[in-house]
Amino acid sequence: MTGFAEFNLDPRILVSLEKMGFQEPSPIQAATMPLILKGHDIIALAETGSGKTAACAIPLCHMVNVESKKIQGLIIVPTRELCLQYAVEAQKIGKEKGVKAFAMYGGEPMGLQLAKIKAGVQLLVATPGRLIDCIHSRAIDLSHIKTLVLDEADEMLSMGFFEDLEFIIQCLVQPHATLLFSATIPPRISLLGRKYMNQPHEVKLSSNQKSPKNLDHQFVYVKNVRLRSTVLSTLIQELAPKQSLVFCESRRQVEEVTRDLKRSKLMGVDFLHGGLAQNLRSQLTSKFRAGKIRTLVVTDVAARGLDFSEVTHVFIFQLGKDIDTYVHRSGRTGRSGREGLAISLVTSYELSLLPPILKKIGREINWLGEAPDVPSHTNSSPKSSGARGGKKRRPSRFSPPQTS
Ligand code: AMP
Repeated sequence: MTGFAEFNLDPRILVSLEKMGFQEPSPIQAATMPLILKGHDIIALAETGSGKTAACAIPLCHMVNVESKKIQGLIIVPTRELCLQYAVEAQKIGKEKGVKAFAMYGGEPMGLQLAKIKAGVQLLVATPGRLIDCIHSRAIDLSHIKTLVLDEADEMLSMGFFEDLEFIIQCLVQPHATLLFSATIPPRISLLGRKYMNQPHEVKLSSNQKSPKNLDHQFVYVKNVRLRSTVLSTLIQELAPKQSLVFCESRRQVEEVTRDLKRSKLMGVDFLHGGLAQNLRSQLTSKFRAGKIRTLVVTDVAARGLDFSEVTHVFIFQLGKDIDTYVHRSGRTGRSGREGLAISLVTSYELSLLPPILKKIGREINWLGEAPDVPSHTNSSPKSSGARGGKKRRPSRFSPPQTS
């Protein structure tokens, strides 16, 4: 019997969870599931990797009536990859009970998707654009929806979906619960909550949560901006990660870094960004999950929310100005209790970004290799704790190539 038994779930759901190897609820699951099962509206602050998908999908699978072919749970997500990932997880959780979950997103023939929905889907996971197309063409019946989920709500807002979300919410006229999951709560999320939700319970597990213990953060000082790619490929060669993600600031940078890594004869390198055709993106995602790609160079949007459980290393090619971006990127490794290492390349231009990042993750600076001479205004310790500390994953003496 697993720790999920206390929630009085349908026994068939418990069987599925056991088969999936879910022993104990994660903190976000323990905090939100009782509220969702009681029908409350919630606003939950939750990161990818916390188990937020199942936190929602377990109660939804428990609550749906599988005798009915109508859509009873509607989950809105920002990207197509997340859409598929969510539907796959919900389908697994609901498998023994016979729950049908389906991912509907743009770039695939709408007719086929609608035929599938007509045949009977209880949980529909959709991106805003494709759902709105279906609503406009009156091709979809939303009148039986009892739960609306807005997942990665902050990401949807930053992608410009605020009006779309309002439109979708306004289309649901019957009483229903609204569950909003977000990594941050910007003012417009609070506004959505006030305007459209019924006394939502706020679940804030990550408010003071520092970085997980199993996630190690290290920084490599790169004296010359032009040497970033060389330093990166040396790091990958020395550390030989089982699987890694390399985060870049733009699509162009993604392509340049991929080209440089391939030129340096690294094997198993590929890239993913929003400019690629949908079928190619899906293929790349599956290849990465299957371990056929060892190093995937990505933009934030392409990687956000994806569950790449086997990622052992995250490389941050260039630090972004937003602290939350660092938290999202580094959080793609060290998931589900596994060990992970996030390594950022830092040039003199980014030194001033370090103090707020270190404060946020609750760590001291840990330089891998030579520490920079930090000017006093950056307020960051120049000490290279990493150079002496002897941490497990670090190569014994990493010396980045620093001459052009
Ligand atoms: P998420 O935050 O929803 O992206 O989930 C991250 C990963 O944790 C996924 O691979 C889930 O299948 C897995 N997971 C979620 N809940 C549990 C649990 N209670 N026990 C073990 N793994 C879990």
